[in-house]
Amino acid sequence: MSQKLTRAEWEAKARALDLHTQAFIDGAYVDAASGKTFDCISPIDGLSRGRVAECEAEDVERAVRAARRAFESGAWSESSPAHRKRTLQKFALLIEKHAEELALLESIDMGKPVGDALAIDVSASVRCLNWTAEAIDKVYGEIAPTPQHELGLITREPLGVVGAIVPWNFPLLMAAWKFAPALATGNSVILKPSEKSPLSAIRIAELAMEAGIPAGVFNVLPGFGKGAGEPLALHMDVDGLVFTGSTGVGKHLLQCAGRSNMKRAYMECGGKSPNVVFADAPDLQAAAEAAAIGIFFNQGEVCTAASRLLVERSIKDEFVAMVVEAGKYLHPKHPFEPGAPMGAIVDEGQMNRVLDYIEKGKAEGARLALGGERVMTETGGYYVAPTVFDEVAHEMTISKEEIFGPVLSVIAFDDEKDAVRIANDTDYGLAAGVWTSNLSKAHRVAKKLRAGSVWVNYWDGGDMTAPFGGFKQSGNGRDKSLHAFEKYTELKATWINLRS
Ligand code: NAD
Repeated sequence: MSQKLTRAEWEAKARALDLHTQAFIDGAYVDAASGKTFDCISPIDGLSRGRVAECEAEDVERAVRAARRAFESGAWSESSPAHRKRTLQKFALLIEKHAEELALLESIDMGKPVGDALAIDVSASVRCLNWTAEAIDKVYGEIAPTPQHELGLITREPLGVVGAIVPWNFPLLMAAWKFAPALATGNSVILKPSEKSPLSAIRIAELAMEAGIPAGVFNVLPGFGKGAGEPLALHMDVDGLVFTGSTGVGKHLLQCAGRSNMKRAYMECGGKSPNVVFADAPDLQAAAEAAAIGIFFNQGEVCTAASRLLVERSIKDEFVAMVVEAGKYLHPKHPFEPGAPMGAIVDEGQMNRVLDYIEKGKAEGARLALGGERVMTETGGYYVAPTVFDEVAHEMTISKEEIFGPVLSVIAFDDEKDAVRIANDTDYGLAAGVWTSNLSKAHRVAKKLRAGSVWVNYWDGGDMTAPFGGFKQSGNGRDKSLHAFEKYTELKATWINLRS
C-alpha cells in the first residue's frame, strides 16, 4: 500500500517529519558534551535538513560507562533468551509500525528511492530483527565427549560492550545486521552511524526503549569517523568492535583493536565483484537486465555491486548492447517519485569521486557506451547517469578500484580459465556471479571464485538464513544467519570433576 504513495504525498509526509537529531545515551536523548553539531544535508536537493549532535571522545566515554553499567546489572545480559526474544520482536514491530517514517529518513538522508527504502531497507531490517530474535531461544550449548568422571560444558557468553560502526548506503539495514545479533546474545551496544546518514539510527533508539530494552543497552552516537568512531575503536572497555565500511577504514580499525585491548574486531568491507557471463547463459536478455540492475540499484552504492562485467568474447558486443539498452531505463529520478529506479548519490564529495573515476576511465582508453555525466543539476541535488564503459582493460583504474557509484566496467574473456583468472585478480572477495547453462561449468567456476557469496544465473540472492561476508580484503567474520552469533559471543569450556 505505502509504495503507491504519490510524490506529493511523500513530500507532505517529509514536511511533517519531526527530526530527532541528538545522541541517545543511557536511555535519553542528549546533546554532544561539547554542544557541537554538524549539518545534515539532503542529497536530494543539496539543502540542509537540520543540525545533528557531533559526538566525540567525551560522549563515547559516557556511552561506554552507561553500556558497561547496563551490562553488569544483568537486566538485559542475564535476562532469559525468551525475554530477549519477545523484546526484540516488539522492537521489530515498532520499526514496522514506523516503516514509512524510517524509509523517508533514509531517502532524505542518503538519497535512495523512498520506495526501495520501504520495500528493502526497512522490511529487511524488520526481518533481520525477527529472524534473529526467533533464533535466540533455540540455540543450545554443547557437552563435550568426556571420560565418565568429567563433564565438559561448552557455552557461549556475550562479549559485553559492543561498538558498531556502520556506513551510509543501507543505514538502517547495515546497523540491524550488527545490533540484532549483538542484542539477542545479551550485549550492550553503542551504534555509531555514518555522519552522512545518522537520522534512522537516532530515531530507532527510542523505539528500542519503547520495546523494553533497558537504558544503557542500546546507545547511538552520531558523529564523524575520527571524532566518534576512533575513540570507540580505541576504548579499553569496549569488548567487541563490528564494522561495515571501506577496506581502508576497516584495516585501520583492526590496528585500533591491536593498539588497545585486543577487542574482538570484525570488518565487513568493500568489493569489486565480478559478474561472469558465458555465451551459454540460459537467457541472455535476463542476464543483461540483471547485470544492469546489479550495478545501478541503489545508485551503485552497494558493497556487492556487480561492478565488473566479464563477458565471453564471442557474445560481448551483442551483450553490451543489451546491457546499455536496459541501463537506459534506470535513469535517476526524484527519490519520492513512485518507481524511481535510482535516486541521488549520497553527497557532493561522493558524486565528484564518481565523476573523477569516469574521467579516469575515459583518459585510460575505455569506451564510454552509456551515461558518463551528472544529471538533474537543476534540482541542486547530486545525481549521476547510469554509466557503462566497454573495452575496459583489466589493468585500468576503473576495473581495479571500488567506485561505489553507477559505473560498470565491461571486460571480455576468452575461456573459463581466463574468466576465473580475471575474476579473482582483485584485492576484494565479497561476491561474484556466474551465468551458464552448463551445470558442471557452473559448479566448477563457483568453486574457484574467491568470494563470500556466489550467485549462479542471478545476482544478489540472499536471506537471513545464510551468512554474508567477504574473502580477502572484503573483510572477516560474517553477518546474518546463526554464524553471526559467533562474533558477539565468547566460547567457554567449563569442566566439572564428577569423582566422589
Ligand atoms: P567508510 O569506511 O568511509 O565509513 C564507514 C563508517 O566508518 C562511518 O560510520 C564512518 O564515520 C566511520 N569511520 C570513518 N573513518 C573512521 C576512523 N578513522 N575511525 C573510526 N571510524 C571511522 O565507508 P562508507 O563510505 O560509509 O561506506 C562505503 C563502504 O562501505 C564501501 O567500501 C562499501 O563497499 C562498504 N560496505 C561494505 C558492506 C559489506 O557488508 N561488506 C556493506 C555496505 C557497505
